[in-house]
Amino acid sequence: MKIVIGNQKTYLKREEVIDFIEKTKNEKCENVIICPSFIYIDYYLDHSKYVIGSQNVCNDISNSRTGEVTAEQLANLGVAYSIVGHSERRKNNNEKSIDFTNKIDCLIRNDIRPIFCIGESKEEKDLGLTKDTVGKQIIEVFDNIDKDVLEKIIIAYEPIWSIGTGVIPTNEEINSMVSYIKDFIQDRYNSRVLVLYGGSVNKNNVDILNEIEVVDGYLIGGASTKPDEFSYIMRKCE
Ligand code: 13P
Repeated sequence: MKIVIGNQKTYLKREEVIDFIEKTKNEKCENVIICPSFIYIDYYLDHSKYVIGSQNVCNDISNSRTGEVTAEQLANLGVAYSIVGHSERRKNNNEKSIDFTNKIDCLIRNDIRPIFCIGESKEEKDLGLTKDTVGKQIIEVFDNIDKDVLEKIIIAYEPIWSIGTGVIPTNEEINSMVSYIKDFIQDRYNSRVLVLYGGSVNKNNVDILNEIEVVDGYLIGGASTKPDEFSYIMRKCE
């Protein structure tokens, strides 16, 4: 069994959300988490069996953060997971490690499991800096979190050059990076974490990816918005 997390980003309109839920309603989904836009979270909770995650969370617990959604509000609805550190937020919202540390802190205080995204750019890969990059991304956050709660964090290794491109690392590369991340966290923090792979996972490559035992599951963007494709992936990951 692999964990399947659908990051639906900003793909879907309301009627498409309704359609997605209807068309996937008979699939087994104990191991599946859907992360819809904030505006659809309540609808998903009321009308589907999916465990729900958010795509973002406010980096503090204040009651005066116009336009934000706090961990307390998410927990109150029944949201169980939240994505933190996605490369699209690093790039488009200029979010930094200090923001991720604060967000993770807020989430854990509210019993929501963080899904912390890390990964290298194409330039970093070409320069042979993949391991240095992800190591630094981990250290800058994990060094500042209470050691007792680190195992609540799920890591998603998402090479930036693979997101939305259809280009995917080889199984050997994924195996090597996921093993590296697990060993790194074990050695430095004496903690065991789940590590997912993300980047262009789809119905054509999920069978091959499933051969990598060390990978605990997938964080899926585009393919998590297409009911037929996502149903296929869910079945293959049961
Ligand atoms: P794609 O699956 O569309 O490449 O997106 C991956 C991703 O960014 C998930 O967070």
